[in-house]
Amino acid sequence: MRSSSELKAYDSNSKNTAPLPNGILQCGKCWSFITTTSRVQNVYSCSNLILIGLSESVPSVCISSEKQLCVPGDQYDSLGELSVFQNVACRSCCVNLGRLYLATTPQLDLLRNIPLLHEHALQYQVEYCLK
Ligand SMILES: [Zn+2]
Repeated sequence: MRSSSELKAYDSNSKNTAPLPNGILQCGKCWSFITTTSRVQNVYSCSNLILIGLSESVPSVCISSEKQLCVPGDQYDSLGELSVFQNVACRSCCVNLGRLYLATTPQLDLLRNIPLLHEHALQYQVEYCLK
């Protein structure tokens, strides 16, 4: 069974299946505001990872200029050995929140050039609303 490590994207074409309910995403360490779910482009799952793809970079994260290569044994190497990525970090506390893949294997083409946040690195608050 290889299906568990297969990359899956939630259906972004159907407006009936929002990838996430309305809410806000916060840094899991310092609780700084990261973004609202309205800026989430899509949610991907691969192996046991859930990746939140942003439609654009947001001011609350910084993307490292250093380019890194996934190596075997990397905790995210199920996402593709030999991928090139930059780290995406919380601007307030610098904890690593995700990755921006610059080059990937063909199976991971969907993830290329999207700032991706690792779901487990975030806090998620539902139904944030301004009144
Ligand atoms: Zn933080």
